[in-house]
Amino acid sequence: MKILVAVKRVVDYNVKVRVKADNSGVDLANVKMSMNPFCEIAVEEAVRLKEKGVASEIVVVSIGPTAAQEQLRTALALGADRAVLVESSEELNSLAVAKLLKAVVDKEQPQLVILGKQAIDSDNNQTGQMLGALTGFAQGTFASKVEVSGDKVNVEREIDGGAQTVALNLPAIVTTDLRLNEPRYASLPNIMKAKKKPLEVLMPDALGVTTTSTVKTLKVEAPAARSAGIKVKSVAELVEKLKNEAKVI
Ligand code: AMP
Repeated sequence: MKILVAVKRVVDYNVKVRVKADNSGVDLANVKMSMNPFCEIAVEEAVRLKEKGVASEIVVVSIGPTAAQEQLRTALALGADRAVLVESSEELNSLAVAKLLKAVVDKEQPQLVILGKQAIDSDNNQTGQMLGALTGFAQGTFASKVEVSGDKVNVEREIDGGAQTVALNLPAIVTTDLRLNEPRYASLPNIMKAKKKPLEVLMPDALGVTTTSTVKTLKVEAPAARSAGIKVKSVAELVEKLKNEAKVI
């Protein structure tokens, strides 16, 4: 079974993002970039399926600037076999990304496509679902457990207040939730080996996809600054403040 994993280059989750002075977006100058954490979980799941003998090949794909090759190399160091970069320096919306992924799916013909449930930069949570609609594949979103059996994949999904298990016919699309697995770290020898693994670069035009955006970001604002907290000297003072200042009791 061939698995295609979509990985996105995003601002590292430890970075405190700064908004540009003109509020047009987030300032990316000299900011540490990494693989989206939910995509790390997607790569890990694919690697585990390969280790179990379920998957025979893992192809990772990213859509983004030339620098996204770094995140693809990381995925190769974690155990993927091959990488595809669809190179674009434009800010693409989810539908454009999903259309490009669909073109890669058509080319690669994977039986399983694994994506993160959400990219932590845009918080869209829609690329997997859009790819599901474009391909007509069955989809299991917010997966906390994935088990391939025969021509089906059983996906346990995290839903409000519980879990739901769905059986999807292959080919299928799975999006990963936080508790699916704990991604491994790449070892130094594997980082070295990854440098020699194949990485193909494609242009959106060559895939026959137009990426004209239908969405425009009008404004990005940082959250309002919170005023500093205070220390109270006694429980009596706390109760007095909750009653008379915060007026919550
Ligand atoms: P989103 O719908 O933007 O929150 O992203 C959900 C998932 O779609 C991510 O975790 C990735 O697996 C995939 N994805 C989104 N954008 C890209 C991209 N530019 N390149 C590769 N995968 C992407």
